[in-house]
Amino acid sequence: MYRYDLAGNLTGKSAATQGADEEESSVDQPATKYCFACAAPIDARAEICPKCGVRQGGQLPQAAPVDPAVRQASGNKMAAGLCGIFLGALGIHKFILGLVTPGVIMLLVSLLTCGIGAIPMGIIGLIEGIVYLSKSDEEFYETYVVGKKGWF
Ligand SMILES: [Zn+2]
Repeated sequence: MYRYDLAGNLTGKSAATQGADEEESSVDQPATKYCFACAAPIDARAEICPKCGVRQGGQLPQAAPVDPAVRQASGNKMAAGLCGIFLGALGIHKFILGLVTPGVIMLLVSLLTCGIGAIPMGIIGLIEGIVYLSKSDEEFYETYVVGKKGWF
């Protein structure tokens, strides 16, 4: 009890002297955000960044918002398409898409048949690679990333 009181008194006393400091920092810190355009620290209530003049709040007011997942799928589409066309028999294009089981099947068929199976697997991969590349980014994302379509 005594200690608690003492501590309370101490903080009470120091609060009087620190009061000014704390007020400053409590106003500064939570009210700071980062400009989404130039990343400058600005007042959280600011509607327009004083550094670059870009309006805050709306995420991307003028540009059409591209889902980052779709953008990433676009890169995977290129990689998987090219791997399907050139290395289709190894199933690498499936692994790029996270389609592990079909990828393992293609790889094993190619390897376990001493390469004979690599011919049909290569043709499948070639067709799949072309199918991937012929799709739009959104279609590709819906079909292979969301839908996890295993074949073609
Ligand atoms: Zn800015």
